[in-house]
Amino acid sequence: MSILVYALHYRGEFNKNSLGAVSEAAKLAKELDGDAAAVVVGDGDDLTDEFCASLGRYGATRVYRARAPEGLAQPVVDVMAKVIADNGYKYALFGGGLLGFEIGAGLTARLGAGVTMEVTAVKAQDGKLVAERPILQDSAVVDVGYVGEPGIVIGRLNAFDANESGEGEAEVVDVDVQLEPHSTRATMVQRGEQRGADVNIEDADVLVAGGRGLGNAEGFELCEQLAEALGGAVAATRAVVDAGWYPYAAQIGQTGKTVAPKLYLAAGISGAIQHKVGMQSSENIVAINKDPNAPIFEFSDLGVVGDLNKIIPKLTDAVKAKKG
Ligand SMILES: Cc1cc2nc3c(=O)[nH]c(=O)nc-3n(C[C@H](O)[C@H](O)[C@H](O)COP(=O)(O)OP(=O)(O)OC[C@H]3O[C@@H](n4cnc5c(N)ncnc54)[C@H](O)[C@@H]3O)c2cc1C
Repeated sequence: MSILVYALHYRGEFNKNSLGAVSEAAKLAKELDGDAAAVVVGDGDDLTDEFCASLGRYGATRVYRARAPEGLAQPVVDVMAKVIADNGYKYALFGGGLLGFEIGAGLTARLGAGVTMEVTAVKAQDGKLVAERPILQDSAVVDVGYVGEPGIVIGRLNAFDANESGEGEAEVVDVDVQLEPHSTRATMVQRGEQRGADVNIEDADVLVAGGRGLGNAEGFELCEQLAEALGGAVAATRAVVDAGWYPYAAQIGQTGKTVAPKLYLAAGISGAIQHKVGMQSSENIVAINKDPNAPIFEFSDLGVVGDLNKIIPKLTDAVKAKKG
């Protein structure tokens, strides 16, 4: 049984989560005696044979290249629906992220398929794929099987690791797709850049996350200065994002991003379960909170009880001094 993956790209590079999905699909397809293929969509001149074929290094045996707008969901739904109809792929796998969710949901609706979202692991069982999905705010995990075809699997962000396990190059096949009228009604006007740092928070080794304890939007300057000194990026809770103190793109948690940096420094964050599920896999969690009973201390490696307005500037100075 073969698996189709969507590979998102931007400025000549494939997205890390997409590469993870390709690697995961290649591993699973092997267990099902099938192949992993990827769909690449775009209308620029960066979709060269070489670029597309490079997905072979991650285990894709074939790459379907379609000329259509990149970065919007509906054109990709059109392309994937056609590739699945023409070639009989049994599963479609997405690496997570907002676009993956939107395309996966659209493809599910288009094909009348079954979908599992927020998947943290996938296994091959009795010749079929079974998705593992955390439920009840991550307190339990359920196995989800598919009764119809195709099965759509949408991973949680960072769920699948990218591995250069494949051999050689993938075969590149051009597909001609007639886009649905509604698929061309939205156009990309501008791609926004994340504020706070030019680092993608999902890739950053160090995250300095701010919560309501920062007091106001200006309070984030403390986090930005510390993040800069540490060579990291800034993240946020939903409470402050909803309050307009920091951009939505920086939100960590159940309805935001899932991250697992080497260091997650939480400043003025209470540690609500919805925040915890997005950062609990971090290697080291350090929390600064003035309330010694704040729940965040229950899952921190190091807890500092005190006023962040006094602690963070001193910490920033100390980091800068150490770096010389
Ligand atoms: C369906 C649903 C989904 C949600 N999804 C998310 C999500 O994805 N991500 C998310 O983060 N939240 C999410 N939430 C919201 C979540 O429940 C919490 O409300 C939110 O995480 C709290 O944010 P906070 O820690 O910034 O604020 P608070 O809970 O208000 O905590 C502020 C903390 O700052 C401390 N503090 C105050 N002043 C100082 C100071 N000077 N120095 C040091 N410490 C100080 C306080 O002691 C307190 O612990 C969701 C909620 C629901 C219902």
